[in-house]
Amino acid sequence: MIRISRPKSIPSVLRKKGRRLTRADEKEYQRDPQAFRDGSKRFAFDRSVYADASVKKALLAAQHDKCAFCESKPLPVSDGDVEHFRPKAAVQQAVSTPCERPGYYWLAYAWHNLLFSCERCNRRHKKSLFPLVDPQQRARIPTDPIETEQPIFINPAEEDPSAHISFREHVPIARNGSRRGKRTIQALGLDREHLNEARETHLKLLNHIFLLTRLPGIPPEHRTSAEDLLRRMTTDQAEYASMSRIAVATWQAQ
Ligand SMILES: [Zn+2]
Repeated sequence: MIRISRPKSIPSVLRKKGRRLTRADEKEYQRDPQAFRDGSKRFAFDRSVYADASVKKALLAAQHDKCAFCESKPLPVSDGDVEHFRPKAAVQQAVSTPCERPGYYWLAYAWHNLLFSCERCNRRHKKSLFPLVDPQQRARIPTDPIETEQPIFINPAEEDPSAHISFREHVPIARNGSRRGKRTIQALGLDREHLNEARETHLKLLNHIFLLTRLPGIPPEHRTSAEDLLRRMTTDQAEYASMSRIAVATWQAQ
């Protein structure tokens, strides 16, 4: 996970249609809050608005086509998801606790609540999970402040994930025992098998390139191109940049 800089300008589909739909949902909820809480009534969120092509395009550009959580680039094999950091339809404090309805329905079309993610991170792992340090502080209606909530998941659009998540070789670990780092890794499956395998392969390749840059007698043009490749593989644009930066810094220090 790396820090994401989401553009300040809100896509017009969210500003116009999104706000209209949010107001309609808020009114519908006010008419019968209990029905939405017991699940007998559910919101019909309009995916064509929050996941409009313009929204997705803006998120992909800000995130360099990478999943906000695992830093994979899913587009060659799947569409990926426009995901809600605060879940819109239902919310769960932990896998073992019941789903509470409705979720943060008033943030379904809120630009500041949207991220691009791979389907694995979103649908297999994050789902409706959104643990808070103190679940009693959870906002349940639009007038409840979300600013006083203390989310456990790291939001890469609001804080630097490297303060909480580090890597031991290709495996993510909590930095300095960070509780939030540990819970984020666990809940989002950031140490899942296939992801670890992909990062391990990536790291081996990176290490070979690093060794090339240090190889005695290597022709200068090859050294330059290896150095250039090493630099590009640690920029924000590169897959698994958070891991690669830590690895290169470690090798350089040895
Ligand atoms: Zn992912």
